[in-house]
Amino acid sequence: MNHNTKTIIGSGLCGPLLAIYLSQRNYQVRLYEKRQDIRALDVSAGRSINLALSHRGIQALKSAKIFDKIEPYLTPMKGRMIHNKNGEIEFQPYSMHNHEYINSVSRAELNKVLMNQAESSELVEIFFDHSLLEIDDNAKELVFNNGVRVPINSHIFGADGSGSIIRNYIDKKSALPSTIEPLGHSYKELHISPNQSNEYQLEPNALHIWPRGEFMLIALPNMDKSFTCTLFLPTTGEISFSSLTTNKLISTFFEEYFEDVLPILENFPDIYFSNPTGRLSTVYAEEWQYNNQYCLMGDAAHAIVPFFGQGMNASFEDCQILMDCLDISNGDWEDLFIRYNMLRKEDTDAIAKMAIENYLEMRDLVAKKEYIKERKISNILYKHYPNYFIPRYNMVSFTSIPYSEVYKRGKIQKKIISKLNIKNLDLSKAKKMVHEQLNSIL
Ligand code: FAD
Repeated sequence: MNHNTKTIIGSGLCGPLLAIYLSQRNYQVRLYEKRQDIRALDVSAGRSINLALSHRGIQALKSAKIFDKIEPYLTPMKGRMIHNKNGEIEFQPYSMHNHEYINSVSRAELNKVLMNQAESSELVEIFFDHSLLEIDDNAKELVFNNGVRVPINSHIFGADGSGSIIRNYIDKKSALPSTIEPLGHSYKELHISPNQSNEYQLEPNALHIWPRGEFMLIALPNMDKSFTCTLFLPTTGEISFSSLTTNKLISTFFEEYFEDVLPILENFPDIYFSNPTGRLSTVYAEEWQYNNQYCLMGDAAHAIVPFFGQGMNASFEDCQILMDCLDISNGDWEDLFIRYNMLRKEDTDAIAKMAIENYLEMRDLVAKKEYIKERKISNILYKHYPNYFIPRYNMVSFTSIPYSEVYKRGKIQKKIISKLNIKNLDLSKAKKMVHEQLNSIL
């Protein structure tokens, strides 16, 4: 095996960041991507699709010394803008601290900056239009759709997303193959253009949510003053993607539930029918490595539903943690793969659960009085005991506390909140519970 060369499958978000990290450690990297090079395409022809980037992703980008090139593409989102069905709008800040917010970023721009940076090292080579079809064990070759066969003589990282070929390969060798759990809900992207004066049509520094109980619409700002909206609906059922099948049905549905946004949606309802519907699932892979040679990264190992805005952040954190493990393992790759798998699995299982729980919070609870009261108590406890009690959203989005630890603390904190009353807040009772049940974390 050539220990100085590493192979990565997938040049999405995780693959190029891993390539940057590895090249900084003087490894030669060969990165294979099934798509064309998006940098050569006319980007204005496509719609901007955006993601929320927060602390964990930022830390990983900083540690790879690439964040300063990405920062100019960020639009801060300081809180949630809730659009109630009765037309009222309410802003809920993400944190009581001004410096704690999440950022909207274009997936395509992020991808381009990462690939440019990866290629700026002469050690990284990206091969586009190379879709991995299979691994030929007999010939010991990677087999691509374009007829290319590449001898396997290096470590191979599967950063090939939720439908990973590398994960499928590991599954065939494993006593504990991965499982995929569909959420039963799907999504569709819609769009709000800038107005005639080329201004945003909604408040730009917020993540907009239209919570409607069983379903919701969200909108994130883009730098060109447009918004990318995503409609989340059950896949089947009375109100679902499978039932809203005609112009009339979808228009009536929007008039009923999303009346305020309807006049500003671009090319609606045609766009609803021309844009694809995406399925949402969680991938639980037990074995992230095989034979000390193959290793999964990002969505290939742990695709999650998008309601905590953490899939990409967790994937970037994977890269940083893999590098930490490399340092601890002192170049012993066998030890490194086992250590990384053990360390990361518990954390990504925890964020997978929290992401599913957060769907209910976003589509339903944020509009409920009880939830607003709980948030108030939570913020008061955070203010009084900042080293012990940090709201769960804040721990996930604004700290690097391991997700599994966040999950455990979140459960304890929820119980504490349930024993307090906002109308008559007993702070000495709160203090006793906080100090007895939570250890100091910062
Ligand atoms: P991907 O980005 O999927 O990249 C995989 C790459 O591998 C692709 O380029 C693909 O073309 C390539 N590939 C696939 N198969 C092959 C093959 N056989 N051969 C060669 N190449 C291959 N995360 C957040 O942190 N914040 C958010 O706000 C957020 N919003 C989201 C909204 C939606 C609707 C969805 C669906 C996801 C969202 N995510 C978000 C999650 C985020 O998109 C993923 O976690 C992230 O893209 C994972 O990066 P990745 O590199 O592992 O996979």
